Amino acid sequence: MNTIYSFPQPENEKVQTYEKGSPEREKIQAALTEIRDIVMEVPVIIDGEPVYTDDVMEITAPHDNKKVIARVHMAGKKEIEAAIESALKAKESWMRLPCDHRAAIFNRAAQLLSEKYRYQINAANMVCQSKIVHQAEIDAACELIDFLRFNTYFMSTIYSQQPNRTVSSVNRMEYRPVEGVILAIAPFNFTAIGGNLCTSPALMGNTVLWKPSEYAILSSYMFMQILMEAGLPAGVINFVPCAGPNLTDTAIKSGHLGGIHFTGSTGVFNTIWKQVANGIDGLKEYPRMVGETGGKDFLFAHTSCDRKALITALIRGAFEYQGQKCSACSRAYIPQSVYDEIKDELIEKVESIRMGSPEDFSNFMCAVIHQRSYNNIKGYIDRAKASDEAEIIAGGVCDDSKGWFVRPTIIRAKTPYYESMVNEIFGPVLTVYVYDDEKLDETLAICNETSPYALTGSVFASDRFVIEKMLKALTYAAGNIYVNDKTTGAVVGQQPFGGGRKSGTNDKAGSHLNLMRWVTARTITENYNPPVDHTYPHMA
Ligand code: NAD
Repeated sequence: MNTIYSFPQPENEKVQTYEKGSPEREKIQAALTEIRDIVMEVPVIIDGEPVYTDDVMEITAPHDNKKVIARVHMAGKKEIEAAIESALKAKESWMRLPCDHRAAIFNRAAQLLSEKYRYQINAANMVCQSKIVHQAEIDAACELIDFLRFNTYFMSTIYSQQPNRTVSSVNRMEYRPVEGVILAIAPFNFTAIGGNLCTSPALMGNTVLWKPSEYAILSSYMFMQILMEAGLPAGVINFVPCAGPNLTDTAIKSGHLGGIHFTGSTGVFNTIWKQVANGIDGLKEYPRMVGETGGKDFLFAHTSCDRKALITALIRGAFEYQGQKCSACSRAYIPQSVYDEIKDELIEKVESIRMGSPEDFSNFMCAVIHQRSYNNIKGYIDRAKASDEAEIIAGGVCDDSKGWFVRPTIIRAKTPYYESMVNEIFGPVLTVYVYDDEKLDETLAICNETSPYALTGSVFASDRFVIEKMLKALTYAAGNIYVNDKTTGAVVGQQPFGGGRKSGTNDKAGSHLNLMRWVTARTITENYNPPVDHTYPHMA
């Protein structure tokens, strides 16, 4: 009581290496053994209580696609309505709880993730989302911990922004949460994103319905349990696996929709936006629409670039986590002279990539997430094989006999508008367009306008004038742009993340800008000396 707290800027969680012989390697292997033969029953959680429904969805491991790992109980309309009611009921006491108490819950969850549950949640992430240990560690452990810790710091920077005052009147801003409930709708590819989508509005005093992706269900459910262990009161975040359209439809019809915090594909966000627009007359407030959506992320190289760094950025950027990062490099523009120099080494390195189960630590890649995705990626590869406008120079092999495996593939496109230079594929497919060394300006213009997306990009050059020229030509082509680095790997607190155009509303997850969307400020002005005469001096 009667204290103004300060929240220091935290440090990023340290990434563990899992080298042979390290204690963390032993612990993750034990956690994998523990989880291996479990089929997790995953309930809906409403008002802090599990609810088991008759509508059950079975989830299999992507790299072992006949093996069921979870049975997800899906919420129907009745459960979604109950979750909305629970969120509305929890709201008043939650938003009035002093912010340091709210922060304490999420900081405690970060601590539990960092120590007690690090290996279990990483193992769940590896098995369910088919990630190698390094990819699981930077996602379910480090990025999620960073979101939780940094957001409490960003929260305090928002609350401390106050307007001017005079000696006779005081002004203050009260950062209220928005009035209705928030829907947090998550993609499969990052456990940390799902965790941030639901906790960032909650931290600011909102109450939430969290719809996890069924394809990330093990780690999402585990995180929900961690939040409850950390002291999250009932109803503040309701865990609602369900068919997405049911959720949005029910929330809109309730009239109590305060906002949607979405990450996923552009098509789905467009559908949701239209659904909200159609229901706007019945809503009590204009809901906050925050969406981070698709990408067609580029790497643009110049003749002055470092060849080795370029090859590494292409391979890591395009193929880590099977190219299933929204920031994955999926098109590259390479000058002819550079291409001639790097081609053989690039192909050799890509062909030598090891792929298989995440439990084999020598692998660099695992399987893609599900059959729909496998079929979509295979379609691009098959069409490239048959096309006169494209040539597969590496990979191109798909095999679904054991899991949804697609070899890392490089397509060389003969036109910069070939379909795989334009569309988001969301798999391990990189398309390269080789440009004439003399045509830098024209090719930069093509890169800027080829795709509807603008999420991430990178430029490779050592000539400073050229770097400046590239950044200028690509001003609106990406919300996160890297110079001489890969297109992926944004870190909370270091690279606030998000893109423009059809890549989203660019509200920068991992920064105060995102949290600002979850408040609706009230300005309170108190006059210590209110006037008692309505006339002005010049009137005398
Ligand atoms: P998706 O769009 O298929 O699904 C996202 C979520 O929306 C899931 O929970 C899904 O069940 C739900 N959903 C589907 N249809 C819905 C509807 N009509 N109404 C409400 N909810 C609905 O995406 P995904 O396959 O899970 O993830 C991959 C996509 O996410 C890619 O396009 C990728 O670029 C994007 N992504 C973007 C970012 C970013 O920061 N920009 C980050 C991660 C992923």
